Amino acid sequence: MTFAELGLRPELVRAVGGAGYTTPTPIQERGIPLALKGRDLIACAQTGTGKTAAFLLPILHRLAGGPRSRRPRALVVTPTRELAAQIGEMATRYGAHLRLRNTVIFGGVGMEPQTRRLRGGLDLLVATPGRLLDHLRRGQAELSHVEIVVLDEADRMLDMGFLPDVRRILGALPAKRQNLFFSATMPDEIEDLIRRTTNDPAMLEVTRRATPVGAISQIVHPVAMTSKSDLLTALLRKPETGQTLVFTRTKARANRLAKHLDKSGRRVAAIHGNKSQSARTRALAGFRTGSIDTLIATDIAARGIDVDGISHVVNFDLPTVPEDYVHRIGRTGRAGASGRAISLAAPEERSQLAAIERLVGKAIPREIVAGFAPGNAPAPLRATPRPRPRASRSPGGYRGRSAGAPGRRAARGAPAAGSNGRASR
Ligand code: AMP
Repeated sequence: MTFAELGLRPELVRAVGGAGYTTPTPIQERGIPLALKGRDLIACAQTGTGKTAAFLLPILHRLAGGPRSRRPRALVVTPTRELAAQIGEMATRYGAHLRLRNTVIFGGVGMEPQTRRLRGGLDLLVATPGRLLDHLRRGQAELSHVEIVVLDEADRMLDMGFLPDVRRILGALPAKRQNLFFSATMPDEIEDLIRRTTNDPAMLEVTRRATPVGAISQIVHPVAMTSKSDLLTALLRKPETGQTLVFTRTKARANRLAKHLDKSGRRVAAIHGNKSQSARTRALAGFRTGSIDTLIATDIAARGIDVDGISHVVNFDLPTVPEDYVHRIGRTGRAGASGRAISLAAPEERSQLAAIERLVGKAIPREIVAGFAPGNAPAPLRATPRPRPRASRSPGGYRGRSAGAPGRRAARGAPAAGSNGRASR
């Protein structure tokens, strides 16, 4: 795949060639065509994946093709001045053969020169949230022409307390726009914001190192739903069970399981959207260093986790979206180590298991653990809690809607190629 094949205008292809890029990175290969179609995009991608070009190139493509305006038609909101400056530099570099203007505004420096630049006419505005809001409140920034907005490092903006500012900025934008949101992890607050502000988004997840599923040994333990916690406790007692990542369907089940396993002698932590970012960071750091040996996570919280040395992945609950199975188990067996994926499958999860086996193209071996045959289950004292009724809460909910077909926003379309270009500011 080349940059030209992605559908980018020749001026941009020339500029990325000049920057020394020969082939698009995975996020560019997958994200750029979708963004060019006008799709909203949610991308789980860390720094180093080429995410900046993944959003800047389609933006510049669109800006070069549309009607000229003195007001910015594209806005990138990013948490730090360093990132803002870097994005501005990249926009200038990638737009070197286009006649577009960009400017960067951030806090800690005088407002006056920024105000002049904001009023001087520009196509692309790159800003940190606090300073942009200051300009907006003083009537010095005009966002009514913005057609495409990027939230870059959304989870970091949350950590830094910028979410209220970000919400206000989004509120000042035209409702009809394209949203490109980038975040290394997907805490609940970000997921909520995304769900409220995007339209039929395509979900992209880029893990830095992929693991062939074939290298991971997989097993299914049939078990009654009510006996899963006890079975997992027994499995975790086996000496060969090292660093273990456990997936549950809901946050409540993650919490309950963490409490249950705490008594098992394992050093356990849970991460999910209700935990503060600092608690999540602490848990992940502990898991990396080994002070925690069992990490319980929901699919959404686990996005962006990139930890070597995970020996076991346990599907405490089978995922409702079969592709999540592959994402989950791909977290073990990295860097040439052997990995083991264990799935606890209750009779009521039969259809999920069948969908997973169809996806991986083979039957996964079953092994009943003595004393845990599904028929041996104690009668439940009370009903197992049902999943939350909001369908979009389900892990991978966005992914389910992401494939190929253009969304409603696609009607707005990408601009036609072919406008001539010159240097950008
Ligand atoms: P980012 O993830 O946007 O912070 O980009 C990380 C680094 O990768 C930057 O230094 C980019 O210049 C570089 N980069 C982005 N896209 C490509 C590509 N397709 N080929 C080689 N390097 C790239």
